Amino acid sequence: MTEFGDGTRCVHGGHGEPSAGRPLAPGPVFAAPYHLGESADFYGRAGNPSWRALEEAIGDLDGGSCVLLPSGMAAISTLLRSVLRAGDRLVLPSDGYYATRQFARDELAELSLSITEIPTTGPWPDEVFAGARLVLLETPSNPGMDVCDIAELSRRAHAAGALLAVDNTTATPLGQRPLALGADFSLASDTKALAGHSDLLLGHVSTADEQWAERLRKARTLSGAIPGPFETWLAHRSLGTLDLRLARQAQNAAALVEALREHPAVSGLRWPGAPDDPAHAAAAAQMRRWGGVFRFELADAAAVERFVSRSRLLAHVTSFGGLHSTVDRRAQWGDPVPEGFVRFSAGCEDTDDLVADVLHALA
Ligand SMILES: *Cc1c(COP(=O)(O)O)cnc(C)c1O
Repeated sequence: MTEFGDGTRCVHGGHGEPSAGRPLAPGPVFAAPYHLGESADFYGRAGNPSWRALEEAIGDLDGGSCVLLPSGMAAISTLLRSVLRAGDRLVLPSDGYYATRQFARDELAELSLSITEIPTTGPWPDEVFAGARLVLLETPSNPGMDVCDIAELSRRAHAAGALLAVDNTTATPLGQRPLALGADFSLASDTKALAGHSDLLLGHVSTADEQWAERLRKARTLSGAIPGPFETWLAHRSLGTLDLRLARQAQNAAALVEALREHPAVSGLRWPGAPDDPAHAAAAAQMRRWGGVFRFELADAAAVERFVSRSRLLAHVTSFGGLHSTVDRRAQWGDPVPEGFVRFSAGCEDTDDLVADVLHALA
């Protein structure tokens, strides 16, 4: 569907050719065994038509083959287990999603990996790449909103014989296409903006290399970590409005960043979409559009509690990218950030309502 725009691809992706009597929007397929015969499907752990429909839609947006997994961490852990062998060197972002580092350290301990942690903004000396098997980037990083150059780091990783993967959760395939920038894998927690309604967990890995896609599918079938058909169907239904939701979220983020820019209670405001943000130039060079996630600091943990409790619209939850505007105080989860550090996810509320509510809550 590459001749169409993002909104069209979100609405039509994975819905197949029209055929008389077939529903315009088919429901989920729940099945353990299938009648055997001339069909791709024989058993629910190995394949499901609802998975394939969403994989076709996301793969079209990512520019590769998509392998759906039951959560973002299932996507990350399946990729790491498939790529890494005992003694390999793995490069991870020191400022990225914390469970990724914990998984590599604790759950892959038997592989005796050599793990190098680098902040998203580097520095990225040659030694980082030499002898590495896999380099994982997260850009924009979460929660810091820093950005690194996917094309340049992919070139350097490949020159050193390493594979490169990008955690594309914050951007979504509409915000950024890592495979087109040279990455071997683009993965995401679709729990966040892609599904976007805070009612399911899901993840995926996309790759332009069909052999890797096949290996990941096999890992999914054999591990048994498979997505539920209903969650898959809900996410596919939600994908239809991703373009619209991101547009409202980015509009709300821009308005809030503008309103908070000179606010005396706020410091450390960062959103890559802001023209004066330190990450803006690098982000604009590789990103296609902005999302609704930004961050700032209040005085301390109590100030964040007061902020949320005075608001009528903000929910204090640890996720982002959904319809509802949400606030997460990241220090409570062990991120190496100040106590008053807030990751703010702008939702799809009316912009004026949201700005008024946030300014009232901070007053
Ligand atoms: C949430 C998140 C994950 C993990 O995804 P789950 O769906 O919760 O397993 C991975 N990476 C990033 C950047 C995330 O925000």
